[in-house]
Amino acid sequence: MSSPYKYLFGPVASRRLGLSLGVDIIPFKTCTYNCVYCECGPTTRLTVERRSWVKPEEVLAEIEHFLARQIPTDFITFSGSGEPTLNKDIGWLISEIKKRTNIPVSVLTNGSLLWDESVRQALYSADLVIPSLDAVSDAVFKRINRPHPALNINTIIDGIVTFRREFQGNLWLEILLCKGINDASDEIERLADAIQRINPDKVQVGTVVRPPAVPGIKPVDKEFLEDVVNQFGDKAEIIGLPAGSKKTSEKIVSDNDIINLLRRRPTTAEELGRAFDVSPELLAKQLYQLQQRGKILVFQFEGNTFYKVK
Ligand code: SF4
Repeated sequence: MSSPYKYLFGPVASRRLGLSLGVDIIPFKTCTYNCVYCECGPTTRLTVERRSWVKPEEVLAEIEHFLARQIPTDFITFSGSGEPTLNKDIGWLISEIKKRTNIPVSVLTNGSLLWDESVRQALYSADLVIPSLDAVSDAVFKRINRPHPALNINTIIDGIVTFRREFQGNLWLEILLCKGINDASDEIERLADAIQRINPDKVQVGTVVRPPAVPGIKPVDKEFLEDVVNQFGDKAEIIGLPAGSKKTSEKIVSDNDIINLLRRRPTTAEELGRAFDVSPELLAKQLYQLQQRGKILVFQFEGNTFYKVK
């Protein structure tokens, strides 16, 4: 059976959110940044223009269909392969979802547009917003996030600080460290100061665990992450492994479901197994067959085997 959805994917085992239904309302790689570490590849449309990129009624109809199926889900998450706040209907969609379910709604955003009052207002009805912040100094910001030229890091940080003050839900700040890019001690100190100003509920520090947009971008090591987390204080933690269901079953996952997920990001067989709650043996065979038929590619990154769609 093929996936009935154009805008939804999963639920997938998210590293932070448990079983998370992804809602992707932005065309592939349409973003305000072109991060060197992006797991979705280079940004093809670098923009700060907010638009109705897709028909919001169609997205809502898919969510209604999904909710009627009563599939266990911990979060409904606006995420995907671009910056979700570039879609100017995101506020309406969050509010409409909240009218239909108690499942909490989260938004993964790069935070680059939170200086804009209409973007902040659009996210007020969410339960959890996770903005990212990888740099404070202008030079490092440009090096790691390669932003649209209209963006300024001081304005962005001020926007996150203002949003934190106004927003009633949870705010987790995500920081991703790349070796030799944003891991110098003075940049870490600036990030620690920014954390104090923002006052998030949590700080989640991670590194490169999937193949990056720019070859040669490397992760920092675990000891370094631990030191940084200590420096960032009690609210900081290292982003760990997925927290999805550990059950294994022999249910059939369609080839299209697998391809649909791999289209969003390269994924290991283990992550796919957790996302679909299937036995690793069954999935390994199916992945091998998809690979043989030329539907997916397999490659290595940092000692792990990843699958992706060409
Ligand atoms: S990591 Fe996020 S913010 Fe950076 S380019 Fe990719 S989608 Fe955009």
